[in-house]
Amino acid sequence: MKNTELIDILEKDRHLEREQWIQLFETYTDKDREYAAAKARETAVSQFGKSIFIRGIVEFSNVCKNDCYYCGIRKSNADCDRYRLSKEQILDCCDAGYEYGFRTFVLQSGEDKSYTTDKLCEIVSDIKKAHPDCAVTLSVGELSYDDYKRLFEAGADRYLLRHETASEEHYKKLHPAQMSWEHRMKCLEQLKQIGYQTGCGMMVGSPFQTVGNIADDMLFLERFKPEMIGMGPFIPHKDTPFKDKPAGSYELTLFLISLCRLMLPDCLIPATTALGTIRPDGREKGVLAGANVVMPNLSPMDVRKKYLLYDGKICTGDESAQCRACLERRMESIGYKVEITRGDHKSYDKDSSLR
Ligand code: SAH
Repeated sequence: MKNTELIDILEKDRHLEREQWIQLFETYTDKDREYAAAKARETAVSQFGKSIFIRGIVEFSNVCKNDCYYCGIRKSNADCDRYRLSKEQILDCCDAGYEYGFRTFVLQSGEDKSYTTDKLCEIVSDIKKAHPDCAVTLSVGELSYDDYKRLFEAGADRYLLRHETASEEHYKKLHPAQMSWEHRMKCLEQLKQIGYQTGCGMMVGSPFQTVGNIADDMLFLERFKPEMIGMGPFIPHKDTPFKDKPAGSYELTLFLISLCRLMLPDCLIPATTALGTIRPDGREKGVLAGANVVMPNLSPMDVRKKYLLYDGKICTGDESAQCRACLERRMESIGYKVEITRGDHKSYDKDSSLR
């Protein structure tokens, strides 16, 4: 079967067999990719119009107990200049972000246990008190069911925890033995069960990734049905064991955005910073491939250069206001408009919410 026929089937059935995914990833051409992008773009526009949701991301600590082989803020990187933001600093970022029109704040960090669940709950509930019309997304790694539950009850609406790879064997090549693929997958199930709008996702072209692994990622996404999918290319960081590994493919990242859009039409899919890092117009192209979210940086200027997961990360020299304005211009340049709204997933039921 031709690749364009597979893309038609995906659009219609929202499903492909493993062998069909493998064929696509092994043999796709630029034409196939453009064919998928046009359909994905149409699907995104039918879901969201020409509106793009924005999230302000506050990278509040780069201290991490984990040692992921790909990540620049891994525990063993002695050259990483560590920082932690206080609750007040985090709230200041959100206050400033509110003025710029953000209605979702994403709090992301390394796995820094100095932020206890009590402390995180306090930060979340203070943000919600100050900005009741805003959503809070957490991205702080693997916690226990009780911790996730308490944070949800404190007001957190969404949680981002990339699964990184749906293959346990591949996961083991990216992480030290103490880290468990099974546990990460269990966390995702729990987040969903608790009621978070849950985001997972993978790095595209991470070392040792095979087409079979990506096929398994797609099958996992089909089954898990996340509300959000974050995907970006792997980009090497000079102080990690993967420093000499090649970056993931820009084209494949765009193709995967399109395929995810066709498989899960209402999913919230960001055009990530990593995509904007490997190509100057990566985020615009991400939107044109079917993404509908962008996540400008709201972190204080003096810490931005310290939250380096990979080399060359963009937006580390701009003020928040500049980041916001720059993305608005970028979106307008391709005919899209940034919306001032929480930008929830369609399944989010305001009435049944306790908040
Ligand atoms: N500690 C949190 C947040 C992790 S950082 C957690 O465990 O979920 C957010 C994401 O950045 C990671 O999930 C990973 O997919 C991505 N990332 C890390 N290092 C990267 C690299 N070198 N290139 C591209 N993406 C990377």
